[in-house]
Amino acid sequence: MHITFYGAVREVTGSMHLLSTDHDRILLDCGMYQGRRKTAAEKNRVLPFDPGLITNMVLSHAHIDHSGRIPLITRNGFNGRIYCTRATVDACGYLLPDSAHIQESDAEYLNYKTVRSALSQMRPGEDGQTSKRDLQEIKRLLKKDKHGLNAEVISDYIKRFHLEGVEPLYTTTDADHALKSFEGIPYRSPVTIGKKISCTLFEAGHILGSAIAMIRYGDNGNSRTVCFSGDIGRYGKPILRDPASQFDGLGRDVDLMIMESTYGNRDHEPVIDLRPRLKQVLNETFDQGGTVLIPSFAYGRTQELLYVIHELYDAGEVPRMPVYVDSPLATNITKVFGEHPEVYDRETHETFLQQGKNPFAFRQVQFTESVEASMALMREEKPHIVISASGMCEAGRILHHLRYKIHNPKNTILIVGYMANHTLGRRILEQGTAYEESGRKGEPPIVKILNKEYPLKARVVKIGGFSAHGDRNEMLRFLKQSNLTIKRIAVVHGEEDQSLAFADLLKTEGFDAVVPRVGETLTI
Ligand SMILES: [Zn+2]
Repeated sequence: MHITFYGAVREVTGSMHLLSTDHDRILLDCGMYQGRRKTAAEKNRVLPFDPGLITNMVLSHAHIDHSGRIPLITRNGFNGRIYCTRATVDACGYLLPDSAHIQESDAEYLNYKTVRSALSQMRPGEDGQTSKRDLQEIKRLLKKDKHGLNAEVISDYIKRFHLEGVEPLYTTTDADHALKSFEGIPYRSPVTIGKKISCTLFEAGHILGSAIAMIRYGDNGNSRTVCFSGDIGRYGKPILRDPASQFDGLGRDVDLMIMESTYGNRDHEPVIDLRPRLKQVLNETFDQGGTVLIPSFAYGRTQELLYVIHELYDAGEVPRMPVYVDSPLATNITKVFGEHPEVYDRETHETFLQQGKNPFAFRQVQFTESVEASMALMREEKPHIVISASGMCEAGRILHHLRYKIHNPKNTILIVGYMANHTLGRRILEQGTAYEESGRKGEPPIVKILNKEYPLKARVVKIGGFSAHGDRNEMLRFLKQSNLTIKRIAVVHGEEDQSLAFADLLKTEGFDAVVPRVGETLTI
């Protein structure tokens, strides 16, 4: 049996590995590279194999960096089934069309810029620059209204002037088509995924539906087992069960563990601090009559926040101000969470389900559907909580809420997730914290939102305990407390320094660990 490491190798995104036997090729994950637009676009378009030759696929969970290129392989000849949990099937039902929509809008915007610049060059003014008036006219021609682009007119110009247009990586039609290949299976129920190959999924504790996949090949006398960790979650978090430790059935001798290492060299804040920290931030803000604005990922973080706020409200620890979930994707994903109580942990069953309550729905929660309702909410002055996407403040409705709330020192911007370099969320976090640490001396920092400048006077607070990834101690705990006998570990899914540091840690703990390179094959 051979395992080739293609993606999320010495980096975090683009998870993809190929497992081959004499008879079959099984793909583990088919994730999208994320990061700088140009590099990511180039890497995403190239597949290192012919999708038509893949027998079946195993998907660890629905996050786009694990599932995002599935529509690309189904469009290019992949005919097999995609095995994952049923919660993952349902989450992909919203996440893949959403990803396709982003691909389409990105391509449209790039094409708009190409046509705009071509038309501008055709109308040079006296100084060689296109006049403001001509430029306005060109923009009017290519746009439907202030924000919407006229795709038809733009694509006409691309053809007419033989310009180099950009095609989306895939379309919403491709995403809808891809969803037909999904096969939802329960945890701990083996399925046959190839000749003499079975796959069993176990809880990974990372996100709703996330799984560790045990793949076993061969007969009793001569068998091989590969365990694919997917992303490993934290211990003691709300909603989900902890990462599995008891792997029953055959195949407890693991020949190769493909192990993530996102935080291979880091320690997180303890999970236990999450609820009291949130309580403090909400109370302090409400006492001043302010609003709490939370930029949040639609999948996972939003539902976890709702869960903890629900608990705080039920316990009477925080005044019950209205909570608005203002993101259509987050609303849909919250429905998926509500529909999969079979994966909740015991605490969630005891606290909510046994009391006849849905953890994610309580009297104060409102899901804002229309743009009009969202606009009305931005102007709301009474204290409330808004949870809105995108998580790093790069796009989406959160931008409009920030425009209305960022200048007011009564309000709080609560950061609950990772903010990548060069994002608005990162700037708000860094500059807001620095201003706070200076004792709010001097002029407040200025941030640019949708091309306008705003003073950052709102308080910026970060709560770190929300991470969906275990830190190095939790990953080590997963490996050590499981009842598996692990012969070798291939460390993937981490920036190179994190993966190398984690492999070193594993070696000091007595494991045989390697950090493969892109395209490298291990044989077991
Ligand atoms: Zn993930």
